[in-house]
Amino acid sequence: RCITPAQGFPLVLQRAEQFVQPHVALVGDAAHVVHPLAGQGMNLGLRDVVELGRVMADKESFRSEGDLRLLRRYERARATDLLSLTAATDGLHRLFSLPGSPARVVRNLGMRAVGSQGLIKRLLIGHALG
Ligand SMILES: Cc1cc2nc3c(=O)[nH]c(=O)nc-3n(C[C@H](O)[C@H](O)[C@H](O)COP(=O)(O)OP(=O)(O)OC[C@H]3O[C@@H](n4cnc5c(N)ncnc54)[C@H](O)[C@@H]3O)c2cc1C
Repeated sequence: RCITPAQGFPLVLQRAEQFVQPHVALVGDAAHVVHPLAGQGMNLGLRDVVELGRVMADKESFRSEGDLRLLRRYERARATDLLSLTAATDGLHRLFSLPGSPARVVRNLGMRAVGSQGLIKRLLIGHALG
């Protein structure tokens, strides 16, 4: 039984200004929130965890796990993936939010063009799968 009224929350693009501080590393939605239209938010967070694990595994013996220089490697390593995915999901969200039939026609043409290009489709799927 629902004991509170239903609530609505706007879906927004959010990104922490910094992912790391000494002894702190943000992963997943704590670091970045993307629009769920592409169903990629959790995948993105899992890739953060994999990368943080890789950075920790490659740690020099003289550094502590909380060393800011070490944690910055994680932050830098995640930049490209995050930028491309946020640009893609936010771009799609804006494109599909445009009102009017001309926008709809352009959208449909674009989606059909991508759908008919096997190579582009495979590249997009490969990237989404990580
Ligand atoms: C409608 C919708 C559909 C989605 N569909 C997909 C999809 O198809 N594929 C996909 O990959 N991703 C999808 N996502 C995104 C995905 O759900 C999130 O990216 C993912 O759940 C983030 O995981 P997380 O562990 O980082 O954060 P969360 O799942 O938000 O977990 C954070 C946890 O911390 C708890 N918490 C918060 N503050 C505190 C505190 N102060 N003390 C203790 N606990 C606290 C919260 O209660 C929560 O349990 C979707 C998101 C939405 C909104």
